[in-house]
Amino acid sequence: MIGLGTVSCLRYPDLVTMPEARALYDVALIRLALHLVLVAAFVLGMVSIVLRQNKVLGFIALACVLLAAVLGGSHAQDQLQHHSDVYLGLDYFLLNLVFMGLVFVPIERVLGKREQPIFRAEWREDLLYFLVASLLVQALTYLSLAPALTILHHTDWAGLRQMVGSQPVLVQFVEIMFLTDLVQYGMHRSFHRLPFLWNFHAVHHSAKTMDWLASSRMHFVEIVCLRGITVIPMYVLGFSQPALYAYLLFVYLLSAFVHSNLRINFGFLERLLVSPRYHHWHHAIEKEAIDVNFAVHFPVLDWLFGTYYLPADGRWPGGYGLADNPVPAGFLKQFVYPFFRKRTAVEVAGTSTESQGGAV
Ligand SMILES: [Zn+2]
Ligand SMILES: [Zn+2]
Repeated sequence: MIGLGTVSCLRYPDLVTMPEARALYDVALIRLALHLVLVAAFVLGMVSIVLRQNKVLGFIALACVLLAAVLGGSHAQDQLQHHSDVYLGLDYFLLNLVFMGLVFVPIERVLGKREQPIFRAEWREDLLYFLVASLLVQALTYLSLAPALTILHHTDWAGLRQMVGSQPVLVQFVEIMFLTDLVQYGMHRSFHRLPFLWNFHAVHHSAKTMDWLASSRMHFVEIVCLRGITVIPMYVLGFSQPALYAYLLFVYLLSAFVHSNLRINFGFLERLLVSPRYHHWHHAIEKEAIDVNFAVHFPVLDWLFGTYYLPADGRWPGGYGLADNPVPAGFLKQFVYPFFRKRTAVEVAGTSTESQGGAV
């Protein structure tokens, strides 16, 4: 599928690749890698058909290779005559998947906290979230930056921005971490407290298995709200580009990391910086872990606002997800769920609280 996706990128670059990235690609190298991927996919597909009782996966692989070959394989050429301003980030998805898979799959195999297969329950749903968020990178970036750009447009804080942007990059990096975490904390807690917002965030909490891929399960509306608000301090206060890019790369890896299935013991560092165990408790099924650990960088924020929870004995949660499983399975059902969710009898009676719907 990665090979077929890459062929599509070579045939329709204007439609399915990011304009900023196009100039950076070494196309000759990509064609060579693509050729190897297609040959490997063909061989592995054949081996799968011979060895496995279930032949479906093997035939899907062969069908993908065949289609990729028909479309030109590693020699595929640009078929578009017209320039397009709208694009899908298929290249972004493929690079994301290969990079994250290469980083996280091996370390989760070696250092996994729980015994769970790579293709665990609901992996298709989570991969679809990953695919859709990557494909819609243009729309997401536009919507996420809109509030910050509006504020920038209506303010004139040149002095302040000059001062902030001229600090050492490391200082700026820590400042961005702290400010975004503070804003994120408020937003995240609102998502838990306000019933309407909770319906969107419940989708993220409906994951019953935690690994790097579970971090992508997030409703489109939540992604836009969360990114829209967290980028405000980053862009409005004038942080320099190196600090911004370093932080964006860091937070990209961190969100997968804190969801990942890793048993690494961070000792006292766990109290200073958010670790997988810390965020896993945010997703825990246990009653004592309802509405705790909202921070994504500094646990001190939860400690200050009274929502800190990290058992000193190094325990991990017994399970993940939501009591009563209110969120349906499947990407599309989860997309419409917040808009059409029926209120429960308890909420109608007006007794809904921060732990609305049994948020755990
Ligand atoms: Zn949450
Ligand atoms: Zn999470």
